[in-house]
Amino acid sequence: MAHSPSAADAKVVILGGGLTGISTAIHLKKPWVLFEKDARLGGHARTDETRGFFFDKTGHWLHLRDAGIKALIHELLPNQLVPVERKARIFSHGALTRYPFQANLHGLPPEIVSECLLGFLRAQVEPTQKAPANFEEFCLQKFGAGISKHFMIPYNHKLWGVHPREITSAWCSRFVPVPKLEDVVKGAVGDVPPELGYNISFLYPKVGGIETMTRALIGRMAGGQVHTSAPVEKIDPAARTVTVGGEVTPWSSIVATLPLPEICRRLTEAPKEVEVAAAHLRCTPVRYLNVATKSSPRSDFHWIYVPEEKYPFYRVGIYTNAVPQMAPPGCGSLYVELSDRGPLPKVDSILPDVAQALHAARALNSPDDILFAELKELTYAYVVFDDHYYSSVETITRYLESHQIYPRGRYGSWIYNAMEDCILAGREIAAKLS
Ligand SMILES: Cc1cc2nc3c(=O)[nH]c(=O)nc-3n(C[C@H](O)[C@H](O)[C@H](O)COP(=O)(O)OP(=O)(O)OC[C@H]3O[C@@H](n4cnc5c(N)ncnc54)[C@H](O)[C@@H]3O)c2cc1C
Repeated sequence: MAHSPSAADAKVVILGGGLTGISTAIHLKKPWVLFEKDARLGGHARTDETRGFFFDKTGHWLHLRDAGIKALIHELLPNQLVPVERKARIFSHGALTRYPFQANLHGLPPEIVSECLLGFLRAQVEPTQKAPANFEEFCLQKFGAGISKHFMIPYNHKLWGVHPREITSAWCSRFVPVPKLEDVVKGAVGDVPPELGYNISFLYPKVGGIETMTRALIGRMAGGQVHTSAPVEKIDPAARTVTVGGEVTPWSSIVATLPLPEICRRLTEAPKEVEVAAAHLRCTPVRYLNVATKSSPRSDFHWIYVPEEKYPFYRVGIYTNAVPQMAPPGCGSLYVELSDRGPLPKVDSILPDVAQALHAARALNSPDDILFAELKELTYAYVVFDDHYYSSVETITRYLESHQIYPRGRYGSWIYNAMEDCILAGREIAAKLS
């Protein structure tokens, strides 16, 4: 690395080489330099391979809406993506029902169906005028007591790692769709066409997992320099420099895609209010198992949601049901997202229970069908939208942007989003800075 501390040749500095950083580099029409902490680019959109089994950092299914991004991805990967019709299920009370739970009660034990249906009807007939104070109240008001008790509250508690009453309702009103009464009733008696709703199909690379797409995007980067194994240590807003490996690099602006608390931690100076806001940011890790199976699972679903507390996971996906090439012929590869976020256990100590539960959920043909399992953790996975969220993010972003430091992407912007949103965010910030 040869960084010049001279301000004259200051470039756009991109911090972090996940999809947001990669997309920024692709779309910038100015010289840039990118620093990535890990040995290879891709961030969360990478795929691990073990003995011919491929695993993303849990299932990374591609949903594309933007015409420009669609064109770019299809141009980079001609005939290399498979369209897949989504098969998502809920595993509850021993039954596999369709997704979403609230609009597909059919198949659950009759007493659960009537409890959920009556609760939903009561919520519709006697609506409360009070604005919900949090996610739990939102669920009770919109879905009623039964659906909240049997899915919304326990599932979201397992997923977010915090109780839904700690999550603001401002967030969930935007992201949690409420079905019409007619749809809930039809779904309760099984009068539903197959797979209705949002995101009913997705794309996935024919080989190599989601990293195949990431690699294709990396191949399009030009006009700059990439430094891997290069974690940024300091960001100096006044001197307009970053320090990486002890070397100082000047910048004209920064696109920062590392997590927002990590950006703040690296600032050489920041007002007190920014420090206080940064201390309020909360995020949940995801602990998961990559599971290789000796035989291909007989169930055909791509993933299941598992709300009941007695099961040690909240979501399980079968990669090979989307693309069989994710494992050697006749075998399966799965991801299992675990609910426990306590001290890191040894795989062997949790595997027997997990295998029994996976078999109960029809994700394994038998409990001893596991060839191997690897325990993994994503430190930053789900941002927690609590009461401090909006004001804290706004305070920090305003300060950073006043110094031409642009926090972007899922963890820079500190949001909940998908891969396409990150590619779009890179395109937008590149257009602003070009
Ligand atoms: C469990 C899970 C499942 C998901 N499933 C889907 C899905 O099915 N479909 C979908 O579309 N999206 C999915 N997503 C979302 C998707 O992963 C993200 O939207 C996207 O990958 C985020 O890209 P990014 O570039 O913003 O962040 P990241 O991928 O986190 O990239 C940030 C980069 O910054 C680097 N970095 C960190 N610290 C430093 C430092 N000090 N110096 C330099 N570099 C640093 C990191 O190593 C990383 O490479 C999922 C996310 C999670 C957590």
